[in-house]
Amino acid sequence: HLMPSNGYAALTSDWDSFWTRNLKRRIEDCFAVPTTLVPGRTINMLERVTNDYCRTFQFTGRLKEAVNLSSYNYLGFAQSTGPCADAVEEIVHSYGMSSCGTRMESGSLDLHTKTEELVAEFVGKEAALLVSMGYATNSTTIASLTSKGSLIISDELNHNSLVFGSRLSGAYIRVFKHNDVADLEAVLRDAISQGQPRTHRPWKNILLIVEGLYSMEGSIVKLPEIVELKKKYKFHLYVDEAHSIGAIGPRGRGVCDYYGVDPKHIDILMGTFTKSFGAAGGYICASKEIIDSLRLDNHSSVYGESMSPIILQQIYTSMWSIMGRDGTGAGQERLSRLAWNARYLGSNLRKLGFIIYGDRDSPVIPLLLFNPAKIPAFSRECRKRDLAVVVVGFPATSIVASRARFCVSASHTKEDLDFVLRVVSEVGDLLGLKMSSRQALEA
Ligand code: PMP
Repeated sequence: HLMPSNGYAALTSDWDSFWTRNLKRRIEDCFAVPTTLVPGRTINMLERVTNDYCRTFQFTGRLKEAVNLSSYNYLGFAQSTGPCADAVEEIVHSYGMSSCGTRMESGSLDLHTKTEELVAEFVGKEAALLVSMGYATNSTTIASLTSKGSLIISDELNHNSLVFGSRLSGAYIRVFKHNDVADLEAVLRDAISQGQPRTHRPWKNILLIVEGLYSMEGSIVKLPEIVELKKKYKFHLYVDEAHSIGAIGPRGRGVCDYYGVDPKHIDILMGTFTKSFGAAGGYICASKEIIDSLRLDNHSSVYGESMSPIILQQIYTSMWSIMGRDGTGAGQERLSRLAWNARYLGSNLRKLGFIIYGDRDSPVIPLLLFNPAKIPAFSRECRKRDLAVVVVGFPATSIVASRARFCVSASHTKEDLDFVLRVVSEVGDLLGLKMSSRQALEA
């Protein structure tokens, strides 16, 4: 709640600026404690580029601490100390903060090429294109790949950036039931046999768009079945790995790694760096041919500022660590910790009698609150007990499927999770959210 959007980028050293005063007021409103902001160690370096104002200040005053289950910091790389923060601090002295240009003009640095090569290798594709914002990565790439006369088949729960990109493209859009392969096949068959509206000509191209891990549901895409369908119906496949890259699979390389599917079966692998990598921006990985054409055609990379050097460094260092190239084994440890934490929290919440959606390996754990009236109560009661969670309701979910969404991180300890279980159990009793053991068996 404390973060203004990234439009407010210029703070520099004006301590009494509008934004610092605004931030102070927001913190006081939110936590109801008197607060003083003082310049932190990282202020000169980070203040101008990041939308995460909280990291640029050291808070004084009696700020209340909470166990944070609300952020996507899956592998704990967003922490303000550690190898990433050190590497970023160093890079700013050689590269500064900004590339000051688009990729087509003067904004291409060796760091871009180096990071793109690493990202392509990480996901197992030939080439990669980096884009400064995850949302724009989807919305502009889909509009570059499809147009009027194309058919887009979209999971009904696809993220807004995918929906926006699909609408922007002018393509004809058909939607199938969430993660339902039988419905997908029925929709495909119907759309292919009908052809384009009115003319019934064959489609120019067909793009199936799914996510790797759905962040409101905790469900993992049924990739092997979709790959089988792809062989039969010859469409192109676009997978958004925002929540799965770095978060699932034995080597942290997303859904292909999770299922042991060869990435060559997926035409476009998209992901963001805002979750597991604790950075910003997104990527598209595909064949060299597709990436070369997107370099000229993708509006956010042609017309928008290229990724900042410090963001590139954060991505590079975290990915290097996940790949085990730093020789410490710390990246693999983070992956194992995340996998263990996700299973531990999910299975114990189920045992307590809560209804939990999603896959057992998902680090996003949705807990059903059902009634929308319980949304603010759940959030407030958790906050009172020093637990920060995200609560979600209509229109993001159906009216009777309000939920709390827990995001597990590798930086949570077992003690943190035991604390979470105690608090959630107490709040669950208070709000009548648990099922009896008979109901649980029936469910
Ligand atoms: N795709 C998905 C599936 C997402 O959940 C999000 C945002 N959480 C995005 C794309 C947009 O990414 P970003 O927040 O990095 O702009």
